[in-house]
Amino acid sequence: MQVKTFWLDTVEIPRPAQQEFPGHVDVAVIGAGFTGLAAARTLAKSGASVAVFDSETVGWGASSRNGGMVLTGLKLPAATLIARYGKEATARMYAASLESINCVETLVREENISCDFARCGHLEVACKPKHFDDFRRSAEAAAREFGHQQRLVPKEQLQSEIGSAIYHGGLVDDASAGLNPARYVAGLARAAESAGAAIFEHARVEEIQREGARGWRIATPRGTLRAKDVLVATSGYTSRVTPALQKKIIPIGSYIIVTEILPEVLAAELSPRNRMIYDSKHYLYYYRLTPDRRMLFGGRAAFFPETASTIRRSADLLRQGMLRVYPQLRNTKIDYVWGGTLDFAFDVMPHAGQLDGLYFSLGYAGHGVAMSTYLGDKIAQSIRSNRTPDSHTGKNPFAAIPFPGAPLGLYDGRPWFLPLAGAWYKLLDWLT
Ligand SMILES: Cc1cc2nc3c(=O)[nH]c(=O)nc-3n(C[C@H](O)[C@H](O)[C@H](O)COP(=O)(O)OP(=O)(O)OC[C@H]3O[C@@H](n4cnc5c(N)ncnc54)[C@H](O)[C@@H]3O)c2cc1C
Repeated sequence: MQVKTFWLDTVEIPRPAQQEFPGHVDVAVIGAGFTGLAAARTLAKSGASVAVFDSETVGWGASSRNGGMVLTGLKLPAATLIARYGKEATARMYAASLESINCVETLVREENISCDFARCGHLEVACKPKHFDDFRRSAEAAAREFGHQQRLVPKEQLQSEIGSAIYHGGLVDDASAGLNPARYVAGLARAAESAGAAIFEHARVEEIQREGARGWRIATPRGTLRAKDVLVATSGYTSRVTPALQKKIIPIGSYIIVTEILPEVLAAELSPRNRMIYDSKHYLYYYRLTPDRRMLFGGRAAFFPETASTIRRSADLLRQGMLRVYPQLRNTKIDYVWGGTLDFAFDVMPHAGQLDGLYFSLGYAGHGVAMSTYLGDKIAQSIRSNRTPDSHTGKNPFAAIPFPGAPLGLYDGRPWFLPLAGAWYKLLDWLT
């Protein structure tokens, strides 16, 4: 078994063109993942000079490590969103979540990115009978409030969707899609570069300083430059370089194993419709077949961000979890294991706006493949039009919602409470 991201074995992410380090740009983008690259592409296409900096390499963060599930909806259920934000604001956010998938599809087509994008739909499976009742209520609410159709699959019909007997029904959403994230981020980088953006790898932004009304001074080991605007697109890897944002984002580990290639008949039995699948627990599992017919199985096996030891432990825990879902895989070899870091805001919502003059987009809570592309584009439009990220146009409804920090300010960016949160979610899964 290799401790390595499977997707990175399917594509060589091209190194950006060598460029002279610029003295001045219109926009400096920190982070070369989906958010930063989608924003850089839009900015460069509109004529702005753009430099993207990554501490590591293109796609090094969550953007090459994820499950490649391009999902409808937000992390929180519609009823919770309506209770918190009201019907109108929730409808705008829900519409944005659907639009974000179209945004990825259009971008893939326009830029000719070969990343196995397919509208295969997603399947959420109920771990308890009560969860299936919740699915019914949530599907009714999605149809009634947002005109979006999902399909309930009762337990007795579930084998048409999944070769597992442990669930109590499912909910299918045909609008969701799947892709190969490493190929996608490689294509996004190429698209941003051909639009005119410069990308600098191994260029950690170490300091950002305000320089009056003129903009910002940005220090990296490769040089110092000035920028009129700065976009922070660092997701779960947000650090002390942007302390105000770091205090609003909890970095949470997520881990994935990938099996050897499965025989065609077995793959078709496990996932007859090739859906993106996840279960209804708080401590959830998510899984899918890869385009070359392996089972990719992920979950929050440890809450802390990835280290050699959390990855090793996760490989065992995830394999046990996979065998509970699919005992058919008991003799199947695991070829890959890896981990990555998710970005959760305290309200479990995406946020894209401006804080202390810096633009940002993050807080995707495991639903970031589509939303990061969408909000990267929207925040770039705000920067270009020199407006505060607004909601009244309906383009970026996430700029209008409050962006809370930790209750009582009990968080300085070091997530000391993660073991407690992990235990709490396990308890919730047992009780609810
Ligand atoms: C294991 C895993 C599975 C997931 N599965 C799914 C899924 O199936 N579907 C889904 O929708 N979402 C999923 N997600 C979430 C999704 O991958 C992320 O929301 C998305 O990739 C975020 O993209 P991003 O560009 O904002 O951040 P990232 O891709 O994390 O990029 C941030 C970049 O910022 C760089 N950086 C940080 N600080 C600095 C600095 N000071 N200077 C320069 N560079 C810096 C980092 O090196 C990094 O490359 C998953 C995430 C993980 C970890």
